[in-house]
Amino acid sequence: MLPGMTGTPDTDVQGGTWSFATAREPAEFPAAGVEGAPGVEHAGGNGRTLCGIRGRYLTVFLHRFQPQALASCRKCRALAEAAPSRPCG
Ligand SMILES: [Zn+2]
Repeated sequence: MLPGMTGTPDTDVQGGTWSFATAREPAEFPAAGVEGAPGVEHAGGNGRTLCGIRGRYLTVFLHRFQPQALASCRKCRALAEAAPSRPCG
């Protein structure tokens, strides 16, 4: 017999700590670029950006707006982070 070989305790299990806060996730917006201003991404949606640029000059990208990305518009970042969260699922 080998003393101390009782197996590794399962410390990775967090248990189910469900709450209304953990059941919600941040709002998401499609990323958009503005014609003539490359390198900056805005949060798009419904023909305009959150910071108020209208659709005619917009190019909607096939990925989500990342508020924390370096290229993100500061106004869109603040507005996207302030947007209400939504339920998961
Ligand atoms: Zn913007």
